[in-house]
Amino acid sequence: MIAGRVTGLREMFDAGVTKPVAWRRRQLEGLRRLLLDRATELETALFDDLGKSPVESEVTEIGFLVAEIDHTLKNLKRWLRPDRVPAPAALLPASARVMREPLGVVLVIAPWNYPVQLLLGPVIGALAAGNAVVAKPSELAPATSALLARLVPQYLDPRAVAVVEGAVCETTQLLDQRFDHIFYTGNGTVGRIVMAAAVKNLTPVTLELGGKSPTFIDEGVDLKAAAKRIVWGKFLNAGQTCVAPDYLLATKQVAAALEPHLVAAVREFYGDDPASNPDYGRIVNDKHFTRLTGLLGDGRIALGGWDQADAKTRYLGPTILMDVPRDSAVMAEEIFGPILPVVTVDSVDDAIGFIRCGDKPLALYVFSDSARVRRRFLTETSSGGVGFGVPAAQLSVAGLPFGGVGESGMGAYHGEWSLDTFSHRKAVLSKRLTPDTLQLIYPPFTEGKEKLIRRVLRRLS
Ligand code: NAD
Repeated sequence: MIAGRVTGLREMFDAGVTKPVAWRRRQLEGLRRLLLDRATELETALFDDLGKSPVESEVTEIGFLVAEIDHTLKNLKRWLRPDRVPAPAALLPASARVMREPLGVVLVIAPWNYPVQLLLGPVIGALAAGNAVVAKPSELAPATSALLARLVPQYLDPRAVAVVEGAVCETTQLLDQRFDHIFYTGNGTVGRIVMAAAVKNLTPVTLELGGKSPTFIDEGVDLKAAAKRIVWGKFLNAGQTCVAPDYLLATKQVAAALEPHLVAAVREFYGDDPASNPDYGRIVNDKHFTRLTGLLGDGRIALGGWDQADAKTRYLGPTILMDVPRDSAVMAEEIFGPILPVVTVDSVDDAIGFIRCGDKPLALYVFSDSARVRRRFLTETSSGGVGFGVPAAQLSVAGLPFGGVGESGMGAYHGEWSLDTFSHRKAVLSKRLTPDTLQLIYPPFTEGKEKLIRRVLRRLS
């Protein structure tokens, strides 16, 4: 069944169905209509899966994708224009250009935390580039998965776009098929499974993974303002955001001064009882709830923690842990939930050294008024992206590539970067047969010719 589905898509791709720019635009317009016509149903599904508030769904999923589609529709013609490059003098007269061609049939595998954005975001790029697509939503966001499986065929060309629902078994079957690109978002363990499966057909992969994104708060910054930004980025989607600040680094003095501002920002955003606040989400499932509550034993609980944990509703309140030891469990893995540990450092050097000891993160955030300090973090650490003064928002800038490095992933997307990811850049050289300016390089290589070649080619190249 899955094999037949992929074969059907390949036949459509081979028949040229997906290549015309008009077809691509129609798909993007269809997707835009889906998002706008069915916004309420999507918001309901996101609430069922993650307790996501409709406003948060609008900002981080639906509106986000509409903006990405609009940006793509506006620029597609320009992006698809071949890039002319100069031909070397020895080849003249000739012209050289780079043209983007679709790859073929691509597979997009999405996670549960932003189940609309992270499925349809890559699909936008894949369609804009002229590919046929199999989109595999996460089984851990079942309401959203079922809804997208129902809606996508109503708005997009079902001959060339398929949604295949399922869990490990179905994804394994998909990975047994030959694709021309696999775009995976999720954890690194499955990322390795995806990459291993891609090897047999030399299929290129994009891996959008996660990790512990550090946040440094320097002395002298406006701590009240910084705390609001951090609390917003951390507790959005109940902390289940790949680019959320995973932990804070600050000197003892800064950490002590920051603590009341963090607590105040949580209260301002979610009130004294976040459990009854419709703007605060829920943990996706029992497994993750148990994993997260297992991380509450480290440091001193300044807010939230056990008093704010209810297994029945999978509610875990915004939790702030102070004085967290560097070797504690909460610092050993990506938290991916509403727990914010604060680790003290001696200095900027100490903070940079600590970050460099870990895997390269998806994002690094720095709150500092000092250009020198910001530059040091920028040049002395490596991460997928950097945010100065604001977390998570870098991925809303359409002109910036979004992706990781090292353990946080490979490849990137959004805007024109998506088009690059889902296209082959074909090198094209055109040279007329007459006049034949290449006679010099044809054999036989007489002594005179050799001398001339060495003299002329070296000067021309
Ligand atoms: P998940 O459990 O939904 O898994 C992701 C996808 O992999 C799903 O579609 C699932 O069906 C599939 N899958 C799971 N096990 C598989 C297996 N054994 N074989 C084949 N396919 C399998 O999501 P997750 O991994 O829990 O997502 C959270 C992780 O993703 C975090 O580490 C987070 O940082 C990362 N993430 C990264 C980004 C990014 O853009 N870089 C975005 C969101 C999440």
